[in-house]
Amino acid sequence: MDAAFAHLEKHKDQFLELLMEYLRIPSVSAQRVHHEDARRAAAFAKTQLEAAGFETTLFEGAGLPTVYGSRLENESLPTLLVYGHYDVQPPEPFELWETQPFEPAIVDGEVRARGCADDKGPSLALVLAARCWVEATGSLPVNLKFILEGEEEVGGQVVEQFLEARKDDLAADALVIADTSGFARGVPALCYGLRGLVAVEIKVNGPSHDLHSGTYGGTVANPATALARLVASLHDDDGRIAVDGFYDGVDEVEEEERDRLDRLPFDKEAYLAETGSPKLFGEKGFTTLERKGARPTCEVNGIFGGYQGEGSKTIVPSSAGCKLTCRLVPSQEPQHVQDALVRHLERACPPGVTLEVTRGPMAPAVYSDPETDWAKRARSALETAFGQAPALTREGGSIPIVNLFAQKLGVQPLLLGTYTPGERAHSPNERYPVEDFYAGIRTGIALFSGQ
Ligand SMILES: [Zn+2]
Repeated sequence: MDAAFAHLEKHKDQFLELLMEYLRIPSVSAQRVHHEDARRAAAFAKTQLEAAGFETTLFEGAGLPTVYGSRLENESLPTLLVYGHYDVQPPEPFELWETQPFEPAIVDGEVRARGCADDKGPSLALVLAARCWVEATGSLPVNLKFILEGEEEVGGQVVEQFLEARKDDLAADALVIADTSGFARGVPALCYGLRGLVAVEIKVNGPSHDLHSGTYGGTVANPATALARLVASLHDDDGRIAVDGFYDGVDEVEEEERDRLDRLPFDKEAYLAETGSPKLFGEKGFTTLERKGARPTCEVNGIFGGYQGEGSKTIVPSSAGCKLTCRLVPSQEPQHVQDALVRHLERACPPGVTLEVTRGPMAPAVYSDPETDWAKRARSALETAFGQAPALTREGGSIPIVNLFAQKLGVQPLLLGTYTPGERAHSPNERYPVEDFYAGIRTGIALFSGQ
């Protein structure tokens, strides 16, 4: 392992330059005008795998290609499957960037560019970790398979088609993903829980057209008022979700986990600064870290309806609506939650209007036992790389790809949090400390040692 670490030390600048080159490619999967760029990013990722002695292929489906690389040393060695993505979120709004999104710059020791943290930096770091092993020692201490896809940010189907087509070649002892955040600056994380998701959109319909509020107001139900009542009915005053059946199957947060979360160095002021909110809020009886990952939620993502322009317009709007998403914890069944939510909305809908419900996508939550052999190896790799034991965390978000891998390959995911939180993924001024990049490479070197 020392030889691989030494190799990294010698090639730090060269590796950072490679990352900068990768970041200059505007591989925005959501925007067709950037699809040629995305293909260039795929080619770049493929070249990096080849530089580490991997056999590679591009899997072309009905979208942007999935890059696959494998380097199989020896059947007696364990095998790790690594997943990452080369596509990035759109950079807009441009005017809020302090530097150009696709002209990476280093500001205060941090790389600034779209995709630096999500996910080009952390995933390239793992490719380079393999390269350090190969260039320093001539081989790898594990068998490695890499999947780098190009449609993560748009939920594309190509990677799924790839898994289906190549299922037999993808067997592995564990799945490594570096696409979640660390716990704090210098403190990495191993994430062992991801929340699931249920989406629903509702529209409340009233009159067939907007009505004059003087002529008709007070004589027919106002859809915006009805919508507000519906939204308000979703939670009680303690922040608990007031939907019958919503909590069915939800496990209480166990004492041991509560203690573990309590021991994490949670900085309330930093968290407030990160969110820009005036005050913390959430379900009564739980701490912020419990609310963040171990408890389910129901959030209004957007409300629309009626007049939104300048000044006043005296109408009773013909309709109003909102988008809702719930985050689920393990043991909550997405279909059951969606049914419960729809039933609640239908029951709670005030008289005088009609309700239109559109059911959206669903994904179950993920639990990945942090005490298995490979989870322990991942923890020790993070500790070696950062000089600091990782926090064991649950992430509030969902990574649908993890479900897909679990379903298709039945392999345990190891979610390595190697970048400092507050990275502004998906937002202007995305950032990624240069030190995290090197620590990410060290994490890979240590993990691939297989010890
Ligand atoms: Zn990502």
